[in-house]
Amino acid sequence: MSRTDARKLCTSCKKRASFFSRSYSGERLCKKCFVDSIESKVKNTINKYKMFRFDDKIAIALSGGKDSLSLLHILAKTEKNQQRSSIIAVIIDEGIQNYRDEALKIAISNCKQLGVEFKIVSFKDLYGLTLDEIISRRKKNNRQSSCAFCGVLRRKAINYAARLVDADKVATGHTLDDEVQTILLNIFHGDSSRLIKGRPISDVVHSCFIQKVKPLCEILEKESTLYAYVNNFQFQNTPCPYASEAMRNDVRSMLNFMEQKHAGTKFTVFKTIEKIRPTLYKMDKKNHFRNCCKCGEPSSSNLCKACEMLNQVR
Ligand code: SF4
Ligand SMILES: [Zn+2]
Ligand SMILES: [Zn+2]
Repeated sequence: MSRTDARKLCTSCKKRASFFSRSYSGERLCKKCFVDSIESKVKNTINKYKMFRFDDKIAIALSGGKDSLSLLHILAKTEKNQQRSSIIAVIIDEGIQNYRDEALKIAISNCKQLGVEFKIVSFKDLYGLTLDEIISRRKKNNRQSSCAFCGVLRRKAINYAARLVDADKVATGHTLDDEVQTILLNIFHGDSSRLIKGRPISDVVHSCFIQKVKPLCEILEKESTLYAYVNNFQFQNTPCPYASEAMRNDVRSMLNFMEQKHAGTKFTVFKTIEKIRPTLYKMDKKNHFRNCCKCGEPSSSNLCKACEMLNQVR
């Protein structure tokens, strides 16, 4: 075999041709070894953070996008061997015309294909308004982005849906990119409290909160996308019409630029914050939750953020 041919071989099995180079580790992988590596990385993350118990009912927050679908397929595969655990998908319909309808169809079709039960909860049912209606009622001088409204209301809806299906845990498809973007966004917004709390496994600070876990938090978004492509998953590709407003896009571009020039940057930021989080957590005195005076859901202040936002548009 010539040296050129050897360079094209997968560095893991050393048999099949490689199709992907992992720049931060120097690996070159064939399709099979790439798929195996993603599944084993996710399993390692789950074990490292002790995300699941053997008898957990796991609600997967499914959007119809590539990351949550990759998570659905991986957990459907891994949890099949756990006789006493089960998975169910919770799908939130925010009410975004010409966007969410398609994602919903894709999410449902993937659940049916895998024989996974699902529950849909809509903003309209829960809050009386769709996200489109909320955004159109937002006052002109309101500087909060559509994503800020969507994020707060969706987090509450996911927790509500997970409770509704009696789940022990709720798993979300946040990738390493999402996590690192959120870390930087919290720094840019000066939100130290969120920076401390955004761990891969949330703390149970109130009995109404279902513990949230992020099994893809050590997977790069581009690898989660590739995993979905290689496995031929059907997923939604069109971007949300509100996405361009978000500061997250600028942070994403900046991080991608850094990662391209300095492979491993995203992992370094993630690991650094993980190292200092326990110390910061001990210093954070604001971990007391009460019940929102309006909706009764757990809240760190008298009125929860979701009710505060809804008050602005009702
Ligand atoms: S891009 Fe923003 S508005 Fe659209 S679904 Fe995501 S968080 Fe919601
Ligand atoms: Zn291989
Ligand atoms: Zn409330």
